[in-house]
Amino acid sequence: MSSAELFQGGLDLLAVALLALGIKGLSKIRSARAANQLAATAMAMAVAGLLISAQPTGVTWVWIAGGAAVGGGLGALTARLVPMTAMPETVALFNGCGGLSSLLVALGVILAATRRDGVTPNLLVLISIGFSIVVGAVTCTGSVVAMGKLQGWLSTPGWMMSRWRHGFNIVLATVVLLAAVLTVVGSSDSLWPLVLSASLLGIGLTLPVGGADMPVVISLLNSYSGVAAAAAGFVVGQRLLIVAGAMVGAAGLILTQVMCAGMNRSLTSVLFGGALGLPSTDGKGSGEYTNITSCSAEECALTLEGAERVVVVPGYGLAVAQAQHTLREVARLLENHGVTVTYAIHPVAGRMPGHMNVLLAEADVPYEHLKEMDIINPEFPGTDVVLVLGANDVVNPQAKTDPDSPLYGMPVLNVQAARTVFVVKRGMSAGYSGIKNDLFECDNTSMLFGDAKQVLSTILGELKALGLGQ
Ligand code: NDP
Repeated sequence: MSSAELFQGGLDLLAVALLALGIKGLSKIRSARAANQLAATAMAMAVAGLLISAQPTGVTWVWIAGGAAVGGGLGALTARLVPMTAMPETVALFNGCGGLSSLLVALGVILAATRRDGVTPNLLVLISIGFSIVVGAVTCTGSVVAMGKLQGWLSTPGWMMSRWRHGFNIVLATVVLLAAVLTVVGSSDSLWPLVLSASLLGIGLTLPVGGADMPVVISLLNSYSGVAAAAAGFVVGQRLLIVAGAMVGAAGLILTQVMCAGMNRSLTSVLFGGALGLPSTDGKGSGEYTNITSCSAEECALTLEGAERVVVVPGYGLAVAQAQHTLREVARLLENHGVTVTYAIHPVAGRMPGHMNVLLAEADVPYEHLKEMDIINPEFPGTDVVLVLGANDVVNPQAKTDPDSPLYGMPVLNVQAARTVFVVKRGMSAGYSGIKNDLFECDNTSMLFGDAKQVLSTILGELKALGLGQ
């Protein structure tokens, strides 16, 4: 073993350790930033290792450094430009890029081997190539569809919601399997049919999934992108890619399970049920409201001032309004006045896993004030005021009471059990699932209409006028 190989082996080992620490650190808000930096350092080390080892195989460092600079530059630009509310679409796109890379690596290797070198790769490499092409193509097109659906660019055609889609996907899966076997046994004619059928399968599997199931699909595609990368690692003989891909695959699968539990859905029903509705496009939701009570920010401030225990429920609208900093100011005033303020975090509030934790951490909300759904639900009956800020589906009692509701079975925050509930939103538009929310008609609920940030600023002014903070 040459000294360069020994050095690269050492770098790989260190990079794997840093990646593992990085993934572990991401599970806590406090350590997440440092964890991200650890993982980025691991990536830099992987590129450095490649620069050292690639010279003898004829790949010049200019290609590697150039690729790293272009990829890193695009990543940095995306991180700066994409707003927090568009993060799920971005994650979906990144998963798609991971799938596409694995697909291209596998294609590059097999095309070079058959056309230029005339040497057939060994069976293990051929199996890895077939696997990498299938998982890479499914991940790539599936992620693009997921991104299009989250952005509202794509909707599901009617026939895709019928049982016909199962037949369509079974035929495609059979073609994929046949083409993959033929590719592995050496038929170059089956290569492009394999790429095409696997790409169509990605579309066929993702297009019927909609509405509230999308977070689960995105984390599953994230897992696929890791599996595709690991397979690509076998294709090019890169140990680090195998281990890193396997880690991403396993982490994505664990996240998928957590998300399924959060929505009380089985993975099979998400993938093959297609039961939950698509996001509402008319913004109205189904069903009319007949018994709505609205109130002013002044009334809300007075009730908050007299409360002992207040629970804040942040939702997607809080992120849209970027109201987290104003919320923190309101909470500070109340806390200094002796009110206990906690935050109820639903696992799928917002548009990506952990969305609310990240927003509140940005506004310096102490981590120990955040309470997960299972912990906070039994506490609502003893709560004086619940302030629902731009949340809708995650507080919809229909999920528990109406077996015909598309949300039925999804665990929700039982806010209606509190003494008084204020719901801050701009109008009566539906949430992501597009359905009516019975909470808005409860006797103890008052609607406070307006943009979350503006309403909170007015409440802040009213609390100061009441003498808080002086
Ligand atoms: P919802 O999308 O159900 O509701 C958000 C509400 O915010 C809307 O009813 C809207 O009403 C209101 N709103 C929008 N903008 C503002 C604003 N500027 N100020 C005040 N209110 C505003 O959000 P939830 O967080 O309750 O639920 C999340 C939903 O998203 C779930 O269905 C979940 O499954 C889904 N989802 C979650 C993902 C995740 O990983 N967390 C990923 C993808 C989907 P109005 O227009 O009247 O103001």
